[in-house]
Amino acid sequence: MGKDYYAILGVSRSATQEEIKKAYRRLAIKYHPDRNPGDKEAEEKFKEAAEAYEILGDPEKRARYDQFGDAAFAGGGAHHYTDVEDIFRHFGDIFRDFFGGDFGGYGYGGQSGTYTAKGRDLRIRLSIGLEEMVRGGERKIKVRRKVRARDSHYETCPVCNGSGKVTRITHTIFGPAQTTSTCRRCGGTGQVIHTRGQGSDEDGLVWTEEVVSIKIPKGVREGVQLKVAQKGHDAPSANGVPGDLYVVFKEKIPEEFRIDDHDLHTILDLNLPEAVLGTAKTLETPHGKIKLNLEGPVTPGKILRIRGKGIPALNTDHYGDLFVHVRVHMPQKLSEEDKQYFRSKLNNEHFQVKKSKRKSFFEKIHDIFS
Ligand SMILES: [Zn+2]
Repeated sequence: MGKDYYAILGVSRSATQEEIKKAYRRLAIKYHPDRNPGDKEAEEKFKEAAEAYEILGDPEKRARYDQFGDAAFAGGGAHHYTDVEDIFRHFGDIFRDFFGGDFGGYGYGGQSGTYTAKGRDLRIRLSIGLEEMVRGGERKIKVRRKVRARDSHYETCPVCNGSGKVTRITHTIFGPAQTTSTCRRCGGTGQVIHTRGQGSDEDGLVWTEEVVSIKIPKGVREGVQLKVAQKGHDAPSANGVPGDLYVVFKEKIPEEFRIDDHDLHTILDLNLPEAVLGTAKTLETPHGKIKLNLEGPVTPGKILRIRGKGIPALNTDHYGDLFVHVRVHMPQKLSEEDKQYFRSKLNNEHFQVKKSKRKSFFEKIHDIFS
């Protein structure tokens, strides 16, 4: 039956549209070209996922696919993506949805009609901690960007007369052909520098430092990109608009935590007496302090599940869970007295191994705050 789009997205054939969208989102983030620069295999996976989502994400196409397989699209309808930018153009809305901002850098907005000169985009990386991932927030950061010097002056480009484009007639064996290209003299801005302001570069721009407020969406993750409009470099012309600033988030997670999808995992260390007798512990989490009351004896390897204390899906209140893995530490040294005590327990019935009582991994997950 050709391509198995369900397998590509890793969902069952009975998956809901929401599950399909989620699965695609996960793959799109994982294989996003920004996160895998130069990785051809990741790029292929990124395209493949887009193709699968185009079919399964559309209930009508999905029904056709379920009935006839990918043969249903032999005459067109399925899109074989050859170009990553194509995907952004096609799924621009979805990506905006997913990433809570413009999913930028690929210019799917396009330019129609009159051309407005735009400054160069800026891209910065911003480290985010667990608390910000959980709650979102706002951060003021210093951005170095180029702005027009006050005394820089521009004039209409003499080559393209301000259109930013140059049209040429070339002669081919089929006759004359017209080609349009970006004006090389002005780089498409339609203007060229007339007077350079003091201390400015060849475009009449000077470096400046500006404090920009970044709104961090809750549930933000590694590789998510946020567009802050018009906080890039100024355009090298009198009437252009500044480029955009792209903030690429980078996770900075404390050592004691691990993230798995939207769940958080951490370790709770107990010494032997604490494990035997039970204990109360306060756990520092990105949601604040959480008090744990552990009734003894606590089995080593026990996993406590605290619902809703993980990471939210981007811009939602759907939180994953926090899993606390209990680790019990044996004493490093025993006194003669300690040994005597344990010797006396060797044959005690409460200390015997009970094989039949072994619990499965899933049974060991206890809901303590349910
Ligand atoms: Zn020009």
